[in-house]
Amino acid sequence: MSKTITTRFAPSPTGFMHIGNLRTALYSYLLAKSQGGKFILRIEDTDQVRLVEGASDVILNTLKMTGIDYDEGPVVGGEHGPYVQSERLPIYKEYAEKLIASGNAYYCFCTPERLESLKDENGIGGYDGHCRNLSNEEIEKNLTAGVPYVIRQKMPDEGTTSYVDEVYGEVEIDNSELRDQIMIKADGYPTYNFCHVVDDYLMGVTHVVRGNEYLTSTPKYCLLYDAFGWERPTYVHLPLLMGKDDEGKVSKLSKRHGAVSFQDLVNDGYLPEAIVNYIALLGWCPKDSNQEIFSMAELKENFGIGGLSKSPAVFDYEKLKWFNSEYIKALPDDAYEEKALPILNELCEEHIDTKKLAVLLHTRIAYFGEIESFIGFVTSRLPMTSDLYTNKKNKTNPENCKEVLTDCLPILEAVENWNNDTLFAVLKEYAAAKEKKAGAVMWAIRVAVGRQAITPGGATELMEVFGKAESIERIKLAIEELA
Ligand code: GLU
Repeated sequence: MSKTITTRFAPSPTGFMHIGNLRTALYSYLLAKSQGGKFILRIEDTDQVRLVEGASDVILNTLKMTGIDYDEGPVVGGEHGPYVQSERLPIYKEYAEKLIASGNAYYCFCTPERLESLKDENGIGGYDGHCRNLSNEEIEKNLTAGVPYVIRQKMPDEGTTSYVDEVYGEVEIDNSELRDQIMIKADGYPTYNFCHVVDDYLMGVTHVVRGNEYLTSTPKYCLLYDAFGWERPTYVHLPLLMGKDDEGKVSKLSKRHGAVSFQDLVNDGYLPEAIVNYIALLGWCPKDSNQEIFSMAELKENFGIGGLSKSPAVFDYEKLKWFNSEYIKALPDDAYEEKALPILNELCEEHIDTKKLAVLLHTRIAYFGEIESFIGFVTSRLPMTSDLYTNKKNKTNPENCKEVLTDCLPILEAVENWNNDTLFAVLKEYAAAKEKKAGAVMWAIRVAVGRQAITPGGATELMEVFGKAESIERIKLAIEELA
């Protein structure tokens, strides 16, 4: 019987969730869930120098908001805990000592000065294996005397090490290129290179899914598995996420391309579901289908290693906007208003009917942060140009618009029940009485009230949003300007 597939996400708490990392989490999660497997979260915080306060919460929150739920990990616990590496130090020590005992690792007492002297003029230099063959007496003497030490992995001198990555195929390296890498540092903390292997093994991880920056160091990790006599996991390295700059040059996705953290995108008004949907397709595509909109349930159903690509994926903000606008359109009214209204209420004066305005914007915005740029014509009276009154289809021009506005002003002033339907009715009645096209009347009023070429909503909808006083004021102003 084959083992249940177990994957993990093992972020270092850096204080923000890069979308590339989120994609790794997602793919790792989907791989497990597409096969009824288990997904583990492990926090890799052994680099004490780079620790950031509250950084683990960012990870936990992001996973919660995106619906990437883990079966084992911090907070939820599980049979393989603890799930935070700094709480597992005795485990790493125990396993490092096992490798020393089996001759696959050794104590190294070299001083920082000695290591420095091994470097060339570019500051690059491998370790020369100086402490590989210390006698037991020497080692004991140093340990008793409290000489600081690191523990190093003994690499084979010759031959090659290779493995087959699920995405990139065979990766092979000459063992002579491998340094005797440090497993346990002088401060007692393990290196990533060592402890993630111990953890993956002890936590029963069958498939390691991660960024391809680890592709070529993985032979070293394979050697650790071999030294322990453990079965190696399946490796799935993911292509880099790239960004395109204004000149069309493509490079690793970074801040200069736009928001690159999940939280920044959420703050800009992107929906977690839309972000997840979009990044799911950055390096993976479904077999035999062009489907683009996927719920998490559909992703779980369709995901598979076979759909992964090794070519770098380019993050396209326009495409993300498209996904997000589709998700916003699909939001039920109350969920949409919950997000749109606070923004509109903050930006608009009291007389504006923000609820009605929200309705007009629902199908038009790509992300909530865009609202402000849509409603400049609401929050202020924009400068007017009389060209706006000219419309071929409706045969309008500044002169006949002025006439319409002058006629309609008293009619509108007399309206008591200020709403879209009533306003529409009185203006239609006026058009019929004057044998004018309704479209021509609406055009004049919409331009006078909106003061810009394209507005979300027509004349009567805008007047409803503005309220009676502001609408009348704007029409009076427009008549003055046309005089
Ligand atoms: N802590 C590592 C990182 O954040 C994890 C790499 C891995 O998944 O093995 O890059």
